[in-house]
Formats: sequence, C-alpha cells, structure tokens
Amino acid sequence: MIRIALVGVGKIALDQHVPALRNNIDFELVAGVSPHHQLADTVNFTSLAELLDTGLKLDAVSICTPPQARFEIARDALQAGLHTMLEKPPAATLNEVGILQTIASESGLALFASWHSREAAGVAPALKWLADRRVTAARITWKEDVRVWHPGQAWIWEAGGFGVFDPGINALSIMTRLMPKQLRLTGAELSFPSNCQAPIAADLNFECDGGARVAMELDFLHGGPPVWDIEIETDAGVLKLEKGGAVLTIDGGEPQVSPDREYPRLYEHFKKIVAERRVCVDVEPLRLVADAFLRGRRKVVEPFVE
Ligand code: NAP
Repeated sequence: MIRIALVGVGKIALDQHVPALRNNIDFELVAGVSPHHQLADTVNFTSLAELLDTGLKLDAVSICTPPQARFEIARDALQAGLHTMLEKPPAATLNEVGILQTIASESGLALFASWHSREAAGVAPALKWLADRRVTAARITWKEDVRVWHPGQAWIWEAGGFGVFDPGINALSIMTRLMPKQLRLTGAELSFPSNCQAPIAADLNFECDGGARVAMELDFLHGGPPVWDIEIETDAGVLKLEKGGAVLTIDGGEPQVSPDREYPRLYEHFKKIVAERRVCVDVEPLRLVADAFLRGRRKVVEPFVE
C-alpha cells in the first residue's frame, strides 16, 4: 500500500486523480495539498512544507499543480524521500525535468512523468497496427474552446503556462509514442494574444523518418464540440484516432471504442515504478513544444478576454 498525497487540488485532481486513487487498492490517499482548495475525507495542508512538518507518514506525492509550480514541489518532495508522479507537462522547462531526474536517480526514488493521453484506449492498438507499416504523412487537429475547458485558469496565459500547448502537448505525447523515429520541427507559427504570454493558436510542421510530413493545427478559440484528432497515412492504409485517442478507426472501418482508463492505468504504472524505484521520464513531447517556442514565428493577435 502506497501512502500518497495529492498536491494541487484543482480540476484534474478532482476529476481524475481522486477517483483513480480511491479505486486502486494499492494506494491510500492520505492528504491533499493546495493553497485554497481541500480534498474531502482526508487531511489537508496549504503547502508541501506544512505537510512535511507534521511528520505524517507518507511514501509518495502526485503533483497536479500548474506547470510553473511543479519543479520546486517535486524537488522538495524527492529531497524529503518521497516517490513522485508528475502530471503533464512534467515541468515548465527541459532542464527542470533533467534536475528532477538526477535527484531521483541519485536518491533511488521513483519519478514518473505521466502522459495521460498515451493511455487512451486507441493508442496501444494503433501502435500495434503501425508496427509493420511505413508512415507517409500525418495530420494533427487539436481544437477546443478555452472558455469551456479552462475557465478561470489564468496560469495558462502566463509564461510557462503553455497556452494552447497545454492540450496540444497531449497530441504530441501520442505522436511521439506512435512514430518510429524522432519528429523534427521544420516550421511553426504561434499566435499570441497581445495581453498574454502564451499562444492561443499554432500551426506546426514536422518531419519524421525518411521525410514523412506531420502537420499540426492547434486552436483555443474553436466553438462547438472539441476536435482532438490524429490521422496517419501509411503505405498500407489510413489510421484515425479521435476524441483524444479514445476512438480508433482503421481504413474507414467500424470505430473501435473502449472505456476510458487513462488515469487508472497511470496509477497502475506508478505502482510498478515505485516498486522498482525507477525513473520513468520521456521529455520528447516537452522538447517539441520547447522547439516550437525557440524556432516558431510569432504573430500578435487580438487580446484574450475571458
Ligand atoms: P486548475 O484547475 O487550475 O488546478 C490547479 C490547482 O493547483 C489549483 O487548484 C491550485 O490550488 C493548485 N496550485 C497552484 N499552485 C500550487 C502550489 N504551489 N502548491 C499546491 N497547489 C498549487 O488546473 P488543472 O486543470 O487541474 O491542471 C493542472 C495540471 O493538470 C496542468 O498541468 C494541466 O496541464 C494538467 N491536466 C489538466 C487536465 C484538465 O482537463 N483540466 C487534463 C489533464 C492534465 P488552489 O486552487 O488551492 O489555489
């Protein structure tokens, strides 16, 4: 039984982490840590330092704060001897992740950079189908209404908040799992509202393995139902993942749908990673976002008003 605290009691903690933990007999959710919000049916603290001062018996933390706050909490948790799971993105910069990896491996502690979209039902069968095919082109369309999906989340517009890459990095986490070789960013245009430090839309182009082109369109001002789709053309058929990877269609056949188990699967992995005291970190999706910020052209657009 792993005694775990949730740090950052916001939307994703309440929607997904709490039910996944409470339905997993290998974990006991022993505390919530958040400046202004509390978890029901457990003790709560306003900071990790406050929790650590109490001497409460604890094995692990799962950090669900915005990315800007993640590094210091994770560093302090690891330095206090706690196994650590990170929501996506694992940190606000690549080097923050590298430093956490070093601390964890030097201390023999588990560190898990989770990518929940990789656990979407269609991803594993898509990977299997692609194994003996050659990808010739792909298109990622990730569009949603920020006012519906991220109401009141001012952090998303601050530096380090990722803007439209907050959902867009989920698509990249799937693509980097599915593609046989590393993607290379060949061009990008990022649209920044004049009053924000993070983009509201982006068009990106990548190439992969022998020149396959991958086009990606991200939009935070999309009205109506969200579009979270990836279409991959191969030398032997077309594969489509929809609804963030939950629905898989091959060559226009019957869509394959399975129940959503993204977060239960993440905690099943974390349990194993803790048992093995392993560092399980893949920064590739974060690296591609960093490349877009480094290499992309910037366009200033209308201010964003929620
Ligand atoms: P959110 O609703 O704004 O919640 C974030 C919470 O973090 C807030 O409730 C805030 O607590 C807390 N927090 C901020 N700074 C903190 C600190 N220093 N120590 C402890 N807690 C702190 O955001 P969210 O949607 O849950 O997203 C959080 C992370 O999960 C993001 O990285 C996001 O990419 C990821 N994620 C979100 C979703 C989603 O659907 N929303 C899905 C998958 C992953 P107080 O309110 O108490 O101040």
